[in-house]
Amino acid sequence: MLNRQKVEAYLEAFNLKDTKSKPPDCSCASSQYNYSPAGHIITGDLGIVTNEQLRELLAKGPKYRIPQPINWKKNFKLLMDAVEDYARKWIKREPDEPDLDTLSEWIKAIRSCIQRRIQKLRCNMSTRVSNPFKNPEVVDALSSLHDKYVVVPADKASNNIVFICKKHYLQCLTTELGIDKTTDLGLILTQKNLLEKPKMIWNMDESGKSFEHNPVKVVAEKGAKNVPGRISAISTHVTIVACVNAIGDKMSPLLVVKGKTERSIFGFNTQEAPSGTMWDYQESGWMDDRIGERWFKEIFLKQCGNDRPHILILDRHSLHESLALIQEGIKEDVVVLSLPPHTTHYLQPLDRTVFGPFSKQYDRACSEFLQQNILHKEDKWTFPTLFHTAWNSALTNENIKSGFRACGIYPFNPLANSRVCLPSK
Ligand SMILES: [Zn+2]
Repeated sequence: MLNRQKVEAYLEAFNLKDTKSKPPDCSCASSQYNYSPAGHIITGDLGIVTNEQLRELLAKGPKYRIPQPINWKKNFKLLMDAVEDYARKWIKREPDEPDLDTLSEWIKAIRSCIQRRIQKLRCNMSTRVSNPFKNPEVVDALSSLHDKYVVVPADKASNNIVFICKKHYLQCLTTELGIDKTTDLGLILTQKNLLEKPKMIWNMDESGKSFEHNPVKVVAEKGAKNVPGRISAISTHVTIVACVNAIGDKMSPLLVVKGKTERSIFGFNTQEAPSGTMWDYQESGWMDDRIGERWFKEIFLKQCGNDRPHILILDRHSLHESLALIQEGIKEDVVVLSLPPHTTHYLQPLDRTVFGPFSKQYDRACSEFLQQNILHKEDKWTFPTLFHTAWNSALTNENIKSGFRACGIYPFNPLANSRVCLPSK
């Protein structure tokens, strides 16, 4: 939803430097969606979208894509070939390396099974897809939303979106980006004499990983719902908490799994996770105050070293502004700096250069694993192995350092973000 390409034009058109004295207009005060602590509209309520068709579309979340027609013929051929490929691999593993013919009955049986399955799918799925954006009313409605609001993904629930008043968003940005000289961060770094101590500057943030343990894999169109065979799929969610510093070091990860008791961790092959990984559980699989404090004591304080002071930068939502944590921080001479939510996605090193590659590496590890272990699946048991691979390949010294650099935290450069972090028009 942030559009890098339009950013520079936007910067000039808007003349951000003047927004403090001449902010754009808004009429949030009289709106039922006004969020009173901010005095502006900040809402996840889709009731704000008046066009019904657009509302339905937005309700599908930012990851939704309008389904593309399926190339049945091509996919059919891919599957048929895959069966034969598998048979070839299979005979190679047998001690006497038999002829492919010995498996011909098996190949035939599997293929006809797939064929029947595809036939059934084709009958059950509607292949005609209508594109709502062909309706000019939907396009107009979207464009008028963009005029008034910045639309961002909600921090915790990646499938939800939040509308934020554009005026409010810009006001927060100008303050945060330090366009009027000093940000809080700059002040703290200077006061604490940390400007040249990258080892003491930390960023902690969380990212989520969802996966399904499907009993059966079925051919389905991206985004397709009600595909037979997916009904019994159980999706689970793991929150990954990372903490890194500006010289590129990383602390042990914290993994929060969904569950009500410690038993929920038992399904995971925890031995395969990176050494020192801390495991915890929470009903929705997210971080809460209890886990945040545990993390601070058992990971942060144990791994940050004996020198003081430290600065720990985090997303305000990560720890729900946990007072206990901030007090604990003061006691330990650790400045806990929580950045305001919604505007900070690109101000955090982990968000900027680490979680993206992590996600890619995870997907890669996953598909490699599935290729090598055709009978396995991505599930709780295998998750720690895949996580470990992705963690090591993505949380590299270089990736981490470049995040701090890009965010202007180290070397400190308050203008570093002004090129990236603007709303799309
Ligand atoms: Zn407003």
